[in-house]
Amino acid sequence: MTETRTTRTVGVLALQGDFREHREMLAALGHEVREVRLPGHLAGLDALVIPGGESTTIARLILSNGLQQPLRAFCLSGRPVWGTCAGAILLARQVDRLDRPGIEVMNISILRNAFGRQLDSFEADLDIRGLAGGPFHAVFIRAPVIERVVPPAEALATLPDGRIVAARQGNLLATAFHPELTGDTRLHAYFLSLAAEAEARPLALEGRP
Ligand code: GLN
Repeated sequence: MTETRTTRTVGVLALQGDFREHREMLAALGHEVREVRLPGHLAGLDALVIPGGESTTIARLILSNGLQQPLRAFCLSGRPVWGTCAGAILLARQVDRLDRPGIEVMNISILRNAFGRQLDSFEADLDIRGLAGGPFHAVFIRAPVIERVVPPAEALATLPDGRIVAARQGNLLATAFHPELTGDTRLHAYFLSLAAEAEARPLALEGRP
């Protein structure tokens, strides 16, 4: 959690969902932001955010726009990729009730809409491993939970009842909540700090959930 001053070129997958909020937060941190809708838009990016929204819709548009393999290749290139909520669902290698393939690169299993109708949205203060400055106020909206994390993936944050809501696997980051909907830029800054790490150490994928 060091590098916040280097200007990076960051893509935000802009097919559906709350990509504008990510764009604004990344721009506020001084980064150049590009919206990604087609494979060619991935060229020249240092990092990529996959926003929240509706994972089935985003997965459908990924397939119809020819983005599935290019997104997988981007994830495997070692550059940082962060999925928030629906984005986290798309990064998981195992998802319940997703009727088409996602990007499937992280060794996590995810349960969609894990909190049910009674609790469509809620907020919680989380201790996030590697994030300095105290608890992070997290906003959950029809959120998933990360049911299993298999190395080299690791859990970064849990709810008080132990359910995992943030995980990392080298350059890949998954959060069940929406940091772009708060005023706290620490997780965006943390995510960009992974770019410096990734430059030194590309990811090797091992194991399966
Ligand atoms: N419930 C949504 C899904 O399953 C995710 C919600 C969100 O991204 N806020 O795709």
